[in-house]
Amino acid sequence: MTVTAATEATVDELRGSFGGELVEPGDPTYHEHRTVWNGSVDRSPALIARCRGVADVMTAIRFARDTGLPVAVRGGGHSYPGHSVCDDGLVIDLGPTKGIRVDPPARTARVQAGVLWGELDRETQAFGLATTGGFVSHTGVAGLTLGGGIGWLHRKHGLTIDQLVSVDLVTAEGQLVKASATENAKLFWGLARRRRQLRNRHRVRVSPSSVGPVLAGPIYWPMKKAPALLRFYREWIAEAPDELMTIAMQRRAPAVDFVPAELHGELIVAVTCCYAGAIEDGEAALRSLRAFGPPVLDLCRPKPYVDHQSMFDGVYPHGWHYYFRACDVAQLTDDVIEVMVEHGNGIVSPITIVGLWQVGGAVARVDESGTAFNGRGADFTFNINGNSMTADGFDAEREWARAYWSALAPHHTSVYVNFLMDEGEQRIRQAYGAKKYERLKALKRAYDPTNFFRLNQNISPD
Ligand SMILES: Cc1cc2nc3c(=O)[nH]c(=O)nc-3n(C[C@H](O)[C@H](O)[C@H](O)COP(=O)(O)OP(=O)(O)OC[C@H]3O[C@@H](n4cnc5c(N)ncnc54)[C@H](O)[C@@H]3O)c2cc1C
Repeated sequence: MTVTAATEATVDELRGSFGGELVEPGDPTYHEHRTVWNGSVDRSPALIARCRGVADVMTAIRFARDTGLPVAVRGGGHSYPGHSVCDDGLVIDLGPTKGIRVDPPARTARVQAGVLWGELDRETQAFGLATTGGFVSHTGVAGLTLGGGIGWLHRKHGLTIDQLVSVDLVTAEGQLVKASATENAKLFWGLARRRRQLRNRHRVRVSPSSVGPVLAGPIYWPMKKAPALLRFYREWIAEAPDELMTIAMQRRAPAVDFVPAELHGELIVAVTCCYAGAIEDGEAALRSLRAFGPPVLDLCRPKPYVDHQSMFDGVYPHGWHYYFRACDVAQLTDDVIEVMVEHGNGIVSPITIVGLWQVGGAVARVDESGTAFNGRGADFTFNINGNSMTADGFDAEREWARAYWSALAPHHTSVYVNFLMDEGEQRIRQAYGAKKYERLKALKRAYDPTNFFRLNQNISPD
């Protein structure tokens, strides 16, 4: 469907009541605003409603209901499968809503739906505070939080959703509703799953103690050391304090300024660390990792938290072609390591990257039934990216990622919903587990029985 003559009249009407910017095909900023982070997603909406606040959101929803246009909701635009843009429909773009208000004595922050992680970190760090958030600063706070939210601080403080205090949201009926532990509590429980309704603003707890400087950064070894390193790593992190969060990475060393030129393009295995506590305690925690064997590069050093939070921005720029497959594994067994070694050695693209995220710590201590997030007991979550800079070679990278993931199939437990592509109902069910999936379905029936918000990791009301 495109905006036809019949709906042009309605668009003109909308202009009269909409406070933000309405962008249509042919407008000078149309291409900029239809573009999302993943360059492999190329969709052309009929209209983009760049909202300024709640009134615009309500107006846009009413417009979509009246015209029957399909709706995509956009926060930071970083959905891997591109759920925040659609063909021939309405994009409700929350990007312009950038309000952040940190309340240092209360240790909370009020955050609007268009805020990116770098923007929130900057505001909270002005007071020495932080909340668990994404490790690339241009990712959206809203979309990441809706799926759970993992990051450098999750082992110490829990998931991003574990910090949620309350949420203001606009329902599929266009009503503003507040959800918290005491108000619409069932709905609040479900907010750890995706996009049942449009969330306009939320309030999160920030760290009870100050965060930063942190001892953080990657340490590289050649890929041929991977079997021994990963076995050592498994034993080492079994004893890790909650302050320490690590991601084991496999890739070709990136051609970026912090990597010496002679390493560019070499296959490496890295352990990227973030110790969110006293630097000297961090140095002690890292001592045995550093003693494992001489790394080819050690970039782990004291730095401001915001510097670490943006360290990987250049590794995941806007516009490249990104694909990934993901799974949780209960443990890093010898069999899992064998798969990692075999497939890690097959990395071709200079921008393909595997991240094995350490979980546990505070994430595992929250009652599994307390939120819709599933899989708190997993020790690790895999993120297997097959990426290319353009469409050239992208198919081969996708195949490589699928093959790596399939080889891990005997070890899959759950999957983190924010690490799903468009993989069908079974995978979404796996992400939430059968019991929580049914509970979420019931919530969907109660709040969005027509499946108005369906461009997401969708749980159908039917
Ligand atoms: C480079 C990169 C780094 C990442 N790093 C991490 C990480 O460190 N930790 C982690 O947990 N995840 C991470 N992710 C995954 C990330 O959590 C998801 O991609 C997330 O969906 C991105 O949110 P967004 O707001 O940027 O995206 P969008 O594409 O805008 O939104 C994603 C989904 O959420 C919906 N949505 C967004 N805002 C709202 C709203 N206000 N109301 C209702 N629905 C909404 C959209 O409709 C869409 O379905 C990363 C992703 C990328 C691309």
